[in-house]
Amino acid sequence: MPVARLVVIASAFVIAAPDQVRGFSTRNPVPRMHWIPDQVRDDIAGVRDDIGGVRDDIAGVRDDIAGARNDNGISAIPLPLSEAPELSSTTCVYLRPQRLGEALSALADQPLTILAGGTDFYAARSGQAITESVLDITALPELRSLQDEGARWRIGATVTWSQIVRATLPAQFRGLQLAACDIGGIQVQNMGTLAGNVCNASPSADGVPVLLTMDAQVELASLAGRRCVPLNEFVLGNRRTARLPGELVTAILVPRRERARSSFLKLGNRRYLVISIAMVAVLIDTDADGVISHAGIAVGSCSEVAQRLRSLEQKLLGRHATSGLSALAEAQDLQVLSPIDDVRGSAAYRRDAALTMVRRAIEEALHE
Ligand SMILES: Cc1cc2nc3c(=O)[nH]c(=O)nc-3n(C[C@H](O)[C@H](O)[C@H](O)COP(=O)(O)OP(=O)(O)OC[C@H]3O[C@@H](n4cnc5c(N)ncnc54)[C@H](O)[C@@H]3O)c2cc1C
Repeated sequence: MPVARLVVIASAFVIAAPDQVRGFSTRNPVPRMHWIPDQVRDDIAGVRDDIGGVRDDIAGVRDDIAGARNDNGISAIPLPLSEAPELSSTTCVYLRPQRLGEALSALADQPLTILAGGTDFYAARSGQAITESVLDITALPELRSLQDEGARWRIGATVTWSQIVRATLPAQFRGLQLAACDIGGIQVQNMGTLAGNVCNASPSADGVPVLLTMDAQVELASLAGRRCVPLNEFVLGNRRTARLPGELVTAILVPRRERARSSFLKLGNRRYLVISIAMVAVLIDTDADGVISHAGIAVGSCSEVAQRLRSLEQKLLGRHATSGLSALAEAQDLQVLSPIDDVRGSAAYRRDAALTMVRRAIEEALHE
């Protein structure tokens, strides 16, 4: 049995016993409160030993990292930043501030690569020494939460895919949750963030088409203040965004759509751990009579930046949200796409697959 689970079970037994005694056996509470079977006592002792061993291992890993840093000339600078030594132009620094103000000051002072979950950052530098200064934003408390703010939802910049999967969210987020389940594997979902996916601006970023259908905005902060940019104006091209030097993405903002339903479909060469050949996101919102008041349909991995299919969205507006509407999708609605031939699929295959996926995703959203 895994150690953590054993700890939970063992401590649940010890902690729960007094309550159970108080609730169901008030005549003779004292002896049973202190009774722990020998087997559980032994298990707890074993778990304590295991934890001690793990602590030693962690201490060893810390020493290794410190050694590796020295070998590579990387200085780990303890915060607060005011105590950081003077930097030479050849020094590569790693900063992990705990206050947003400190992070923004550091960004204003020097060129820093922002690091969130690191799943794109490290993949792009696989096998290479890190030769740039890094600003790790994972200790900033302001960026960690996914919040209902009334008229909109705020998804903090370090909210991970796993947080999105586990969150209790309305149906407008079903497409985003489906996309989150399809990102890499569990480990990548545990570390990778939605904002990192957007900032990385890959044509195959699964989060981008979903957020486009929701009219999401990107919130940026710098020492000069905050600004919000619509997502379709933020992602400019392959690995290009409208983020200015000194700016940090602090959140993705999603307008609230009470009656909206959504879906997401991804096509890859296998089921998991795969870069999309094409992906489609659909969001359909209705008025109280079930008439479509907003339609968002976006296709990713079929152009440099994921594209909304505006002509198809227009065809859906004003119609009753009932099944069969997918028949309105035609090949010419996908003319805004510019797919390429690559190792994953030909341009013609992508166009064909995308049309089928658009039709399926519309029906899925309608049946949600
Ligand atoms: C094995 C594997 C499988 C993967 N599978 C998928 C997949 O199926 N679908 C998919 O879309 N992606 C996939 N990815 C890519 C990656 O996991 C996602 O894009 C992830 O969401 C990136 O988030 P992150 O927090 O790890 O970003 P990071 O790697 O930390 O950062 C990515 C980029 O964004 C910048 N950045 C990050 N946060 C901010 C911020 N707040 N402000 C400004 N700039 C910022 C960084 O400087 C960097 O350039 C996969 C990656 C791996 C390694």
